[in-house]
Amino acid sequence: MANILVTGGAGFIGTNFTYYWVKQHPADTIVVLDALTYAGNINNLTPLITSNKITFVHGNICDTTLVEQLLEKYNITTIVNFAAESHVDRSIQDPDVFIQSNIIGTHSLLKAAQNMWQEKRNVTDHQFHQVSTDEVYGSLDEGEPSFEETAPYRPSSPYSASKASADHLVKAYNKTFGLKTTISICSNNFGPYQHQEKFIPLCIKNLLQGKKIPIYGDGKNIREWIYVEDHCRGIESILLKGLSGETYNIGSDTHKSNLETVTCIYMALLELHPQPHTQNFIELDTINFKNDDHIYYTKDRPGHDYKYSLDSRKIREQLNFSKTSSFNPRLHETIRWFIEKLKQGS
Ligand code: NAD
Repeated sequence: MANILVTGGAGFIGTNFTYYWVKQHPADTIVVLDALTYAGNINNLTPLITSNKITFVHGNICDTTLVEQLLEKYNITTIVNFAAESHVDRSIQDPDVFIQSNIIGTHSLLKAAQNMWQEKRNVTDHQFHQVSTDEVYGSLDEGEPSFEETAPYRPSSPYSASKASADHLVKAYNKTFGLKTTISICSNNFGPYQHQEKFIPLCIKNLLQGKKIPIYGDGKNIREWIYVEDHCRGIESILLKGLSGETYNIGSDTHKSNLETVTCIYMALLELHPQPHTQNFIELDTINFKNDDHIYYTKDRPGHDYKYSLDSRKIREQLNFSKTSSFNPRLHETIRWFIEKLKQGS
């Protein structure tokens, strides 16, 4: 049995992780700490809060005193840190909040953990898990091998630089203070509860509402897509079997250019063929896919990385973890989920 503090648990991956953990480990205590920024939605967690399966605390990870109080009050032995500003475009427009939440926030959690677990109380069986991103490694050129955990960090955007910085702090607290830490580095996630500003939800919503999809540059940038539940399972295997001080890549080996991803979404929507439920929904047949009528190209994102790809052999071989989901069936599920949400007007 463990007592876990999930930070950022009202966001996309944090919500999925919280549901996953409650289902798989019902005897554990889960406390979710979330500042409820524009990206956090407490309604995501309502069923778990009202059934007393989790405790929700509205607060900021930068508030070290609050974090220390939570660690003590709930006898927390594990922190899983999802809390972050996570949208690259926003980090280019307004980097300050990324520095605050992603760097200062992670440092605040580390300080609280070190103080409570190592200084004030002797919690030897503790774990600080940092959720990181493949973007810390920077971009690959065509033909270059996937990133291993030993690859140097070469972040391109203020977002990835802030996540890289946080990872370095986590490693420093492990090396200097002996705090028991692990880091997972994951590729692009998709699935339920993702914010509609992100690529796959945006494509689904725009196609359903008859709006065009904006594509950066020539649309050939490549991403590795993983279903969010596989990411949660990967974190679970690290929490249960991972070694302190280690970093583990969690990838899917499913690579797609942005244009290919749009095509998959379009084909899936055609197959699902939803009836127009609101006046905003259009008949999908009316979109002339072949003429690219449903997309438009925009000026490329500054510093846009060409390709991300993770070498996930370490977690596969050392922790016996591999993904179980396939892209297309999970994409269908995700689209069905978003259609329901859009019908409900949320
Ligand atoms: P998200 O933006 O959907 O959710 C972030 C959550 O953190 C929100 O609920 C927000 O309210 C909360 N939050 C932000 N700042 C906070 C603060 N200072 N204090 C407390 N709560 C705060 O993000 P996501 O897509 O769920 O990503 C979660 C984590 O996973 C992030 O660290 C991100 O870098 C990482 N990650 C995401 C992906 C992906 O594809 N989405 C891939 C790899 C890694």
